[in-house]
Amino acid sequence: MAEAPQPVRGTRDLIGEDQRRFAHVVDTARAVCGLYGFDEWQTPVFEETRVFSRTLGETSDVVTKEMYSFADRGGDSITLRPEGTAAICRALVSNGLTQSLPQKIFYAGPMFRYERPQKGRYRQFHQIGAELIGPAEPLADAEVIALGRDILAALGIADATVLELNTLGDLESRGAWREALIGYFREVAEGLSEESRARLERNPLRILDSKAASDQALVANAPRIDGYLTATAQAHWDGVRRGLDQFGVAYRVNPGIVRGLDYYSHTAFEFVTTSLGAQGTVLAGGRYDGLVAEMGGPPTPAIGWAGGIERLAMLLSSAPAQPAPVAVVPMGEASQAAAIGVLQSLRAAGLRAEQSWRGNLKRRMERANRIGAGWAVILGEDELSRGMAQVKRLATGEQAELALDRIAAYIAAQDH
Ligand code: ATP
Ligand code: MG
Repeated sequence: MAEAPQPVRGTRDLIGEDQRRFAHVVDTARAVCGLYGFDEWQTPVFEETRVFSRTLGETSDVVTKEMYSFADRGGDSITLRPEGTAAICRALVSNGLTQSLPQKIFYAGPMFRYERPQKGRYRQFHQIGAELIGPAEPLADAEVIALGRDILAALGIADATVLELNTLGDLESRGAWREALIGYFREVAEGLSEESRARLERNPLRILDSKAASDQALVANAPRIDGYLTATAQAHWDGVRRGLDQFGVAYRVNPGIVRGLDYYSHTAFEFVTTSLGAQGTVLAGGRYDGLVAEMGGPPTPAIGWAGGIERLAMLLSSAPAQPAPVAVVPMGEASQAAAIGVLQSLRAAGLRAEQSWRGNLKRRMERANRIGAGWAVILGEDELSRGMAQVKRLATGEQAELALDRIAAYIAAQDH
């Protein structure tokens, strides 16, 4: 026999409890985003490579080593999307929506990065995301962060995370800070990882996001943005924190939060948990005022975040269980047609209902227990001749004889 194919490294199948957790994260996020007035968008899973290559930053991890890029059969360079924000901005511009602001967008779907797979880190992973495009006000930053917090709260995991907050300032602040960082890291360059040394002149901010242990101590003593904020950047930063207080969102200022992609300015934040080891960031984002313009649109302020569905799903204590089904048990050929009628009436009443395909009463009752049925509807020939069936509550053994057309209403009423 041929060797059976396995899933590709870094990908996984979602089955049973895994899929229920996954769907619960997406459903909850979609519902809470709806409460904030966000509409869902879907963009393609692949884009022209340039949608990502320039905008995410030529020295970012994603662009330098993580993108799934290939030439398609027509010779065009295509990339499986590594993240959602650049694609949403591309869609905003392509669909002529840059004058219809604000746009409040929710999305959910697969992303692709060629990373070293480990717990909470995959090559095909999935994100939920929210983007608020248009407002430049710091209160918009606070509201988008509050939205993230409310999703974590609705999932029951807000207490398992801490919000870490930072500002990257505006272009002018960042320019001055960047020079200071280059000066500092040059002095200590010998202690830096090879990767960080290579980034020193091109993008020293990336060093602050380095995961290399040897860089950590040097990063801790690096100049902080605080000293370089312009008055405008300072006012925005103050406004965001005031807004968070008004929304009742707790945070911790962490000057080390710089985010892995280049398009961020002003606000940067991460909801972090300690319970997933090195893969502790579950939902993260920031302001990206320059991105829509880089995509060929007019200068357009925007703020958003993305959450890793796999990591959020791992934090859930459990997935919401499926309701216990009703098992419909026909006894013999003659009752099969009536069984289908009962099954369909149960489903029409919103009840989960199943029948098994073969076997005697004993076998079928065993199966009803195996699938965790709450009720069995037993269709015996005798009762059927009178238009009735036995309805049994499996947990207690209580049994009642009911007319076929009353069964669904009876069970629905008792179940609630
Ligand atoms: P990390 O520092 O963990 O690599 P990142 O900064 O690359 O994260 P973002 O691009 O901000 O992550 O993506 C937002 C969220 O998506 C992350 O906080 C994380 O929860 C999730 N995520 C990112 N990459 C992966 C991956 N390879 N597998 C699973 N989830 C991921
Ligand atoms: Mg990463």
